[in-house]
Amino acid sequence: MRYRDLDDTSGCPNHGPCEQCGTEEDVYTSTFQSWCTGVFCLRLCENCTDTIDVRLDVLTTMNRVWEHCDHLGITVDEMADISGIFPEENELGPSPGRCSP
Ligand SMILES: [Zn+2]
Ligand SMILES: [Zn+2]
Repeated sequence: MRYRDLDDTSGCPNHGPCEQCGTEEDVYTSTFQSWCTGVFCLRLCENCTDTIDVRLDVLTTMNRVWEHCDHLGITVDEMADISGIFPEENELGPSPGRCSP
């Protein structure tokens, strides 16, 4: 498995307005760990980065994660491996608690 820094935003779109409030000033791409789904990126201004409550619906989050996989040049499966969403099954079964909010 190739290791990849899931928080690497160098491949993410680095232009465009804040996705929360639409400003074009001090906008950066940040990564967020979604609940049990993977890592995704959002374009946010400094203000919104501090205040945003990143709770997207499941479908949106999944799409976001897919897009960010694309930015990273990895597959969703690889991201899952790297972030440990699907722990390798062993005799004890998947380790519990991985997906606790
Ligand atoms: Zn904003
Ligand atoms: Zn991205």
